Amino acid sequence: SKTAKADIALIGLAVMGQNLILNMNDHGFVVCAYNRTVEKVDRFLENEAKGTKVIGGRSLQDMVSKLKKPRRIMLLVKAGSAVDDFIDNLLPLLEKGDIIIDGGNSEYNDSIRRCKSLEEKGFLFVGSGVSGGEDGARYGPSLMPGGSTAAWPHIKDIFQSISAKADGEPCCDWVGDEGAGHFVKMVHNGIEYGDMQLICEAYHLMKQALGMSCQEMSEVLTEWNKGELESFLIEITADILKFNDKDGKPLVEKIRDTAGQKGTGKWTAISALDSGIPLTLIAEAVFARCLSSLKDERLEAAKQLTGPSNAKYAGDKKQFIEHIRKALYASKIVSYAQGFMLMRQVAKDKNWKLNMGGIALMWRGGCIIRSIFLGEIKKAFDKNPSLSNLILDDFFKKAILNCQESWRKVVSEAVLLGIPTPAFSTALAFYDGYRSGWLPANMIQAQRDYFGAHTYELLSEPGRWIHTNWTGHG
Ligand code: NAP
Repeated sequence: SKTAKADIALIGLAVMGQNLILNMNDHGFVVCAYNRTVEKVDRFLENEAKGTKVIGGRSLQDMVSKLKKPRRIMLLVKAGSAVDDFIDNLLPLLEKGDIIIDGGNSEYNDSIRRCKSLEEKGFLFVGSGVSGGEDGARYGPSLMPGGSTAAWPHIKDIFQSISAKADGEPCCDWVGDEGAGHFVKMVHNGIEYGDMQLICEAYHLMKQALGMSCQEMSEVLTEWNKGELESFLIEITADILKFNDKDGKPLVEKIRDTAGQKGTGKWTAISALDSGIPLTLIAEAVFARCLSSLKDERLEAAKQLTGPSNAKYAGDKKQFIEHIRKALYASKIVSYAQGFMLMRQVAKDKNWKLNMGGIALMWRGGCIIRSIFLGEIKKAFDKNPSLSNLILDDFFKKAILNCQESWRKVVSEAVLLGIPTPAFSTALAFYDGYRSGWLPANMIQAQRDYFGAHTYELLSEPGRWIHTNWTGHG
């Protein structure tokens, strides 16, 4: 019909939806905007979208009638039942082959369910991770779409046009089947938890062991941001550290030290536990937030429990700062290696073909964990697409070799000074465990067989399960 002129509909006019619409408009696409509270459509058209080609829908029917076919409808609403409600209300208005895209932070198992259910009815479903917050949505997010593969040719142009670009390539590619897009977005958020915790531990060490001021620390991070640690999170941390309140004192130091969370880090850790992958750094980062939240308990325990307090590092300050930088870098390599281990395992379990290099490229720009480091990960998977573990790639092997002494020094000094560094420490423990041809798990097998007759294998005869009567009686 003559009114069917919109390339895509976007439902959900909160920050993310509004900014994505304006981004799509900038790239020449005609967007039809809709929102549950319909007054917001007019308000948007009269204000933020004034002078653009954006049109509005007064009802779902009205919106659908304005769309070119196959219809492309993207949801940016609160994750959970709002997504199911919209899908239920849309389906009677759509035809086979039409595409529903969920760009919210949905749990990937919900996306698996929605994808299967829509495909059974002849529709196409895309669950897309969207990262980069408000600014990303407006000027170039990282987009991680997965679901019905047949939908990709119909949305590729819009998605790759509006996404961030890194090294000239769009930070958006097809991730895989079913819930693969939201799964990869979840792992991205888990890695974000890890990266943030690593920076916090570096901050803790500089502040406490070296007694550095926020201004000094800001300068150090600004330097770090010129090297292999160059990343959005290091950059904003340098900014935060030099930001002073009205009284001229650093604002960050006045903020209550209890970390919030919305659950994506926890989901990543749960997924790792479910699939048997030692994703230790992200799990520690989630637990570190949990421990921080027990502020009242910590204040009480601080009065009762002894240990080193306010101990200072006795050696060379400049050298120790460089040790911290290297400990952070090596730990970060371990965290990403663990994240890719999780993705490899879940892809195997779900029968998804995840393109690991493509994922690194999607995270290279636009999103919170963007960094030059991800360019190196992309290169590693380009060199060897079936690379079994990131830390076995030559570049990363060498990087860890170069950082290793510093890493061990920082973790041991932190232990002696009584400064908790759960992420640095667990990364090092993982590294040492992963490179061990032998681990003391033989003792676990003996114990399990002793108390529960769980049987064990001999090193010399794998595959033959043996039970021993360890007590000699009975
Ligand atoms: P939001 O606050 O999560 O959600 C608000 C939008 O959802 C409004 O359009 C609201 O409609 C609609 N909504 C809420 N409950 C509804 C229900 N039961 N039925 C129908 N509509 C409902 O908005 P947001 O911050 O822009 O985020 C949108 C999605 O993107 C979320 O899934 C979020 O997790 C994800 N995301 C956000 C960010 C970010 O930086 N904010 C980054 C990446 C991803 P009304 O106006 O009628 O209330």
